[in-house]
Amino acid sequence: MHGLMMERQLLISGIVDHAALYHGDTEIVSVNTGGGEHRTNYAELRRRALLLGSALQNRGMSRSDRIGTLAWNNYRHLELYYGVSGAGLVCHTVNPRLFAEQLVYIINHGEDRMLFFDRTFLPLVAGIRDALQTVASFVMMEARDEAVRDEYPWVEFYEDLIAEGDSGWSWPDDVDERDASSLCYTSGTTGNPKGVLYSHRSTLLHAMMSATPDVMNFSARDCFLPVVPMFHVNAWGSPYAAPLVGAKMVMPGPGLDGASLTRLFNQEKVTISAGVPTIWAGLLQHLETSGEKLPYLERTIVGGSACPPAMIERFRDEYDVEVLHAWGMTELSPLGSVNNLKNKHFELSEAGQKKLRESQGRPPFGIELGVFDDDDNQLPSDGETQGNLYCRGPWVLSSYFSNEGGDPLRKGWFPTGDVATLDGDGFMTIRDRSKDIIKSGGEWISTVDLENLAVAHPDVAEAAVIAAKHEKWDERPLLIVVPKQGRTIDEQALLGFYKHKVAKWWIPDAVMIVEEIPKGATGKILKTALREKFSDALLTAN
Ligand code: AMP
Repeated sequence: MHGLMMERQLLISGIVDHAALYHGDTEIVSVNTGGGEHRTNYAELRRRALLLGSALQNRGMSRSDRIGTLAWNNYRHLELYYGVSGAGLVCHTVNPRLFAEQLVYIINHGEDRMLFFDRTFLPLVAGIRDALQTVASFVMMEARDEAVRDEYPWVEFYEDLIAEGDSGWSWPDDVDERDASSLCYTSGTTGNPKGVLYSHRSTLLHAMMSATPDVMNFSARDCFLPVVPMFHVNAWGSPYAAPLVGAKMVMPGPGLDGASLTRLFNQEKVTISAGVPTIWAGLLQHLETSGEKLPYLERTIVGGSACPPAMIERFRDEYDVEVLHAWGMTELSPLGSVNNLKNKHFELSEAGQKKLRESQGRPPFGIELGVFDDDDNQLPSDGETQGNLYCRGPWVLSSYFSNEGGDPLRKGWFPTGDVATLDGDGFMTIRDRSKDIIKSGGEWISTVDLENLAVAHPDVAEAAVIAAKHEKWDERPLLIVVPKQGRTIDEQALLGFYKHKVAKWWIPDAVMIVEEIPKGATGKILKTALREKFSDALLTAN
């Protein structure tokens, strides 16, 4: 017997409909690419997203066609999220920080029919335009600009397209919740990037769970500023989760430096934010030198790479900001776990609570995690046994776009490529990426642990640890550091800092002092580049 309840599809258009209906006057503040701010609200967002959807349909776009974006976090990008997916098309966010060849590969592979871009990326688009095989329209996300048109006659303008929209249009009523809604390529530090194709249903389930208190904890009382770009796994799904609850949104545009963010946080009374550790390191450095505070910011979600415990402490002790350490992947939409304690943990000592807070947290309803050996046998979740982290759930991918790379699943689970421990409460600690972990004399050493300790040293701005080849032990840890401005690093003193904090045999063999650590397009340290450069360093030293 079926239940006798209404069957309503879980669609992305439903989010903006709800936001416009019950939070219509809630503000969306957006920093323009060329400077200045734009203020709009959820009612306007829906009105313009509908105009855009109708204009795209009038232009001949048909179900599941891919529409590319190369854009910052701003209100037009948000309109694209809703207008494109709402019209039954696929919003393909492309990371503009990638190399030109990768951009061309991704846009051709996605077979994007139109490309929307911010003014900043006009030179980039002009440079790759001839290599794009499927894009018929290039739309700059601005009002009409004759000077641009004179120089680049192939450029169209967003506001002209909005003006083409039909104000009586409504969302197509035959979009199925299982239809594709958006496309995002993995960062592809090795091999070609692969596309992850989200559905309306996966996006809605992810957004609904993200908003709950033990996950991102969004509400209509919040003002949310996503620092994480909308081209990086849909800004972790937050442009869906925030309107779903009617939170005020502040879109920071291109200015992600410490000074610009501090100004916005305080001017707009932002209560919650989200971003990768490198961004927060820049913000903390700015606060330290300027002496400014963050009187309104209550919490921030930090993920994308391991958040050093020293960062959690500084935010808490000096700025009264709670860090929610989260782990995720493009293939998981991206949320897999967030660190929030449970009721029973308040009985623990302060040190015990602090220790738990350092892990990547526990999965929300919808995500199941497991650790496995190399033969796909599940290992115990005892907080100690380290293994390959697998996961499954309704917002985890089942295969890549165009079935690239074949079936990615193992026994119905998605192997994440991370090595982790898991305890009985679901608290998961990432020990490493499986390809980064160091195997010294057959024993594993976690580069994450060694990096976290290095950045706690007062002279260190950034740190990376890699496996360097070693004649006796096969691999040994090599520490690569960037000193803080105006500080010098003494190699022996820095290595001495590890004493009594890790097992003696974990202490790196040597320190390389560099001016810069190479980062990929999502701000993560490029260990492949470091390994290429430094993996023989200990051999020559021996
Ligand atoms: P991406 O799909 O580009 O977001 O990369 C996903 C990968 O980033 C994961 O498999 C992890 O290796 C890493 N990652 C994400 N969040 C964290 C975190 N909080 N701690 C450690 N690694 C993380």
